[in-house]
Amino acid sequence: MEPTGIDYYKEAAKRAMQWQAKYQKEMMQCRFDTIAVHGIYSMQEALDYNQGSIIEPIYMSTSQAYRDSDEMEAALGYMVPTWCYSRIANPTMYYLEGVMALLDGYGSDIETSCIATSSGMAAIQSAVDQFLVVDPKHPAAPMNFVATTQLYGGTFQQFSIRKDVERAVEWRKVVNSTDLSEWESLIDENTRFLYGELPSNPGLAFFDLKAVTALAHKHGIPMIVDATVATPALMRPIEHGADIVIQSVTKSMATGGTSIAGAIISRKNITSNIDNPEMKADFATYLKLLPNRDNGPNISPMNAFLALNDIRTLRMRMDATSRNTQKVAEFLETHKHIEKVAYLGLKSHPLHDLASQYMVLVDSEYDELYGEKVNRFGHLMSFNVKGGAQPTRNVFDAFTRIWRATDLGRIKSVATIPAISTHSQQGEKGREMADIPPNMIRLCVGAEHPDDMINDLDRALSVLDGKKVFITAPDYSAGGASSARLRKE
Ligand SMILES: *Cc1c(COP(=O)(O)O)cnc(C)c1O
Repeated sequence: MEPTGIDYYKEAAKRAMQWQAKYQKEMMQCRFDTIAVHGIYSMQEALDYNQGSIIEPIYMSTSQAYRDSDEMEAALGYMVPTWCYSRIANPTMYYLEGVMALLDGYGSDIETSCIATSSGMAAIQSAVDQFLVVDPKHPAAPMNFVATTQLYGGTFQQFSIRKDVERAVEWRKVVNSTDLSEWESLIDENTRFLYGELPSNPGLAFFDLKAVTALAHKHGIPMIVDATVATPALMRPIEHGADIVIQSVTKSMATGGTSIAGAIISRKNITSNIDNPEMKADFATYLKLLPNRDNGPNISPMNAFLALNDIRTLRMRMDATSRNTQKVAEFLETHKHIEKVAYLGLKSHPLHDLASQYMVLVDSEYDELYGEKVNRFGHLMSFNVKGGAQPTRNVFDAFTRIWRATDLGRIKSVATIPAISTHSQQGEKGREMADIPPNMIRLCVGAEHPDDMINDLDRALSVLDGKKVFITAPDYSAGGASSARLRKE
């Protein structure tokens, strides 16, 4: 007999979910590029439900309608897959989450899930807050977490101000992240997680992920890794044992520079000393259905779509921009006005060998250009200019092709001086700890021809020889009020 009422919907949902799971398993057999291009959007779905649209549709709708009260009850009780309301879920968001989960799980048989958020910072906050909850067994215990100091400036502020100062959640700082004993000495029974950025922005710190993860698991706590700089095209922390990955999708994942977006990707059955079986079984899905429903930091469908569309070319872009960066870094390394170049691809970098064990262009062994595994190190680098803060600013001000912006991961080359921008808020001492001197320029090389970027750098550095270079002239005539307010008299 055909089921009726709520059971009818539950049955139908079961069939749909089985079909979707089978399709996802099939996709998992494909290579990285195929997954990036197609994601979880099938022809079947396009033809049956989306007018044959070959690109995932953007569902700019706040909410989903139901056929009757039975379907509504089943949906709101999470008895059937549903998106209800776009603060919680939405079909376009779902396509982004589906592809991100597959890409960060690629190359392993580990099942992953993903929740997309409105920004990388929202991803970090929602991931870590889940572990900073009252433990019913030890309600009065002071909580702490152990994290490297070499972090993105925003993360540094979130940890030091929003957690440590405002909420008395102690951030125990690992200064030398390659020193395993330093990590271990900071862990106690009130430690909730270990956290690190791999590689770090902008310092390119790198640690032995497998060893640190083993340490976390020995103490029954999760390893959380921000892998924004690497992207899954170069490194997938979950296959090395990590429990949770953070991506600022804003950056190299969605290189086009049209949206702010973040994501949390987790393996099934994470390690944690928090007594919450449902949370541990499927962290990202739990976060999506419960805490983030209540807190509301999730992504908008439009931004999800913009990111999704960029992700299709992730591997080839990371290959091209990594190669360009390598060339630029090698040029700068021999330049007379440069004190130091930090790029993990340079043999001179002390962490080059360690990073080489982890940062490999995915599927390069199946690429007819390479036919073997090749290392790629991403497009973030930094260099220090001889002579201190002012000469550094003079060089920076003379760029004509490289954009001065607090951004990275772009298809266009962008540069910033971290000490006066991304890392200005953490103060001198915080910058010293994170190794951000005032003569450091962070450069993220884009997909332009590297020779043109080298010319721009060479020209800009010639200001230190007393050469006059043309500096982009201010012309506020077209910019209207928004530019006029920046005019220097
Ligand atoms: C930019 C960045 C973030 C924050 O991401 P948003 O999308 O800007 O909120 C986090 N981690 C790293 C490494 C970043 O570069």
